[in-house]
Amino acid sequence: MMSPGQIIPPGETIGILGGGQLGRMIALAAAQLGYRCHIYAPEADSIAADVAAGFTRGAYDDTEALARFAAECAVVTYEFENVAAAPLAAIAPVPLYPPARALEVAQDRVNEKTFVEPFGGRPAPWAQVDTPADLAAAIARIGTPGILKTRRDGYDGKGQWRIMGPADAEALDWPGVPLIYEGFVTFFAEFSVIVVRGADGAIAFWDSAHNEHDSGILARSTVPAPPEIVAQVAAARDLAAQVAQALDYVGVLTLEFFATETGPVFNEMAPRVHNSGHWTIEGALTSQFENHVRAICGLPLGATALAAPGAVMDNLIGDAARDWAGILSDPANHLHLYGKAAVRPGRKMGHVTRLVM
Ligand code: AMP
Repeated sequence: MMSPGQIIPPGETIGILGGGQLGRMIALAAAQLGYRCHIYAPEADSIAADVAAGFTRGAYDDTEALARFAAECAVVTYEFENVAAAPLAAIAPVPLYPPARALEVAQDRVNEKTFVEPFGGRPAPWAQVDTPADLAAAIARIGTPGILKTRRDGYDGKGQWRIMGPADAEALDWPGVPLIYEGFVTFFAEFSVIVVRGADGAIAFWDSAHNEHDSGILARSTVPAPPEIVAQVAAARDLAAQVAQALDYVGVLTLEFFATETGPVFNEMAPRVHNSGHWTIEGALTSQFENHVRAICGLPLGATALAAPGAVMDNLIGDAARDWAGILSDPANHLHLYGKAAVRPGRKMGHVTRLVM
């Protein structure tokens, strides 16, 4: 067992909370560096465990199971932020990176907006909403159109309701969970900043991708982004660096932004590797997954520059993944399939990256 700040050498075991494709890709990168991975997830079938050395099936709030799992690991990380932070105290004295504080901030839309504002982060106008009366007051103050979102557990556009006018609010089947109302941002594009911070405080950024969504789900990430986005990256990176430092962050951190006529508007953050950084596997000198492993193990960070003039990553959502043979027939395509047994509409089944030469 290692104490925080120490180097965790290859051969040791990295624990990963979460059993999905991000954990799978972290485990693959960790294996390349000679580490073993042990996955902890509540589901019986884990596509991360399929490529890992160990698997513990347990609930995220089962402190006994978490402690048993941690005893097998030299360091623990997570690929999934919708995990309650308090039970993770059971992982100590094994280090948890990124720190639990990053989870608490990033897993709640009110917390993350409140957190970035002192650093000059500009979110959309927002209001905390717990009751229909709160929503009416928020609409009166912020106006419509807007988006009502669950504070927690939202992903890929789930847990969101467009509010075009007060009638939409009145017609709502009240969700009964803590909510946030956001004014609708007029943006010309979306982009993300992916930063890695090492245990020694060193930071590095990858090129910011231009992210295009379809029905709230990331469809395509492109680097380099067009000049109108690149012009906003410095301000966005400045915020990301301040957030990472304030959280004493170790690992990969992602901030998502709307590019607007008045500069970057902060949307949300993820305390983890991110779908908009999958292009880094082939498109950057060191991938987000490898640098996440390097950071949490106390190793020096790898270079993050582009490995080619550009890269385009397309998600394979639902049935799109069935065309793996067609995708492979073009030798320029790098196909990644996540090994998910069931194809479902809206489900991320894989991605394909093409380098721009
Ligand atoms: P989120 O889960 O918050 O990332 O939302 C998913 C997608 O919905 C974003 O990537 C945007 O395309 C869109 N969206 C979310 N919030 C807003 C907003 N306040 N204004 C305009 N579009 C939004």
